[in-house]
Amino acid sequence: LPDTPCRTRFAPSPTGYLHLGSLRTALFNYLVAKATGGQFVLRIEDTDQSRLVPDAEQRLYEDLRWAGLSWDEGPDVQGPYGPYRQSERLALYTEHADKLLREGKAYRCFCSPEALEEHKRVAHARGESTRYPGTCRAISSEESDERAANGQEFAIRFKSAAEPTTVRDIVYGNYRKKEAEDDYIIMKRDGFPTYHFANVVDDRHMKITHVIRGAEWLISTPKHAELYHAFGWGPPKFAHLGLLVDEQRQKLSKRHAVADMGWYKDRHVLPDALLNFAALLGWRGVEKKKTLGLQDIIDNFSLKFTKGDIVVPMTSLDYLQ
Ligand code: GLU
Repeated sequence: LPDTPCRTRFAPSPTGYLHLGSLRTALFNYLVAKATGGQFVLRIEDTDQSRLVPDAEQRLYEDLRWAGLSWDEGPDVQGPYGPYRQSERLALYTEHADKLLREGKAYRCFCSPEALEEHKRVAHARGESTRYPGTCRAISSEESDERAANGQEFAIRFKSAAEPTTVRDIVYGNYRKKEAEDDYIIMKRDGFPTYHFANVVDDRHMKITHVIRGAEWLISTPKHAELYHAFGWGPPKFAHLGLLVDEQRQKLSKRHAVADMGWYKDRHVLPDALLNFAALLGWRGVEKKKTLGLQDIIDNFSLKFTKGDIVVPMTSLDYLQ
């Protein structure tokens, strides 16, 4: 671990409840902050308005508090870099997207959702690439400004580099995709940023030093790296955590009762026992699987994580009760 205070964040989308995998992500971020005398930030990523689950945010607070993972800054704890709910930060994202537009690093895309769908359908049928063909890249900035001023709806796309970007990850090492990124959307037609854009702008503004999240986000990291580069910002350190799977190698999901916090609460599992269990799902810092209290884990914590899928030993869950 660095000997300077680290700032980490847990950035859930209120599209579902906390589960074993996200609890583990929150825990590792909490541990890095606490072990270095830094801060653990809670940020609500609610920019996909169509997928919000009404009580998800409230349940999230209850479950994190029950587990004992309190945050130093968050939606209800004023910190210097808030507000910590993305839907309340839209002006910041718009300002940043406008900067990229002015600098020619992004462009307005006036293609209608129907036209984009049609393109995909035709390309797919022909066995061609379904990527965005870059239609609106060619529009001059004068014409683009005029169409926007006339009230034509648009999304904003980032001009991705022609070559794939290599990103460095603490767990996965150098990561590079075969193909360059598409010109992906950073601001949607509804005026909300996409996950990628809001995530990068916020991590920078909240001075996050370490981004620790599930391995399913590793494929998004090159997009994020390109954005950091476009703004001239140094990226934070990335650590992606192996996915949790059951003994049959099926990804842990809502279908698994043990993934839900309710399972532990109903059985009166002590939060410390659950955290101890969760910490050992991917953290290689201890030799033997012994029982450690939260403070012991903090005192011994390191950034040594397992690469690849992590099997949740279901049978050992019985011992938690
Ligand atoms: N909002 C994303 C999620 O729900 C955050 C991923 C990240 O940590 O960057 O998991």
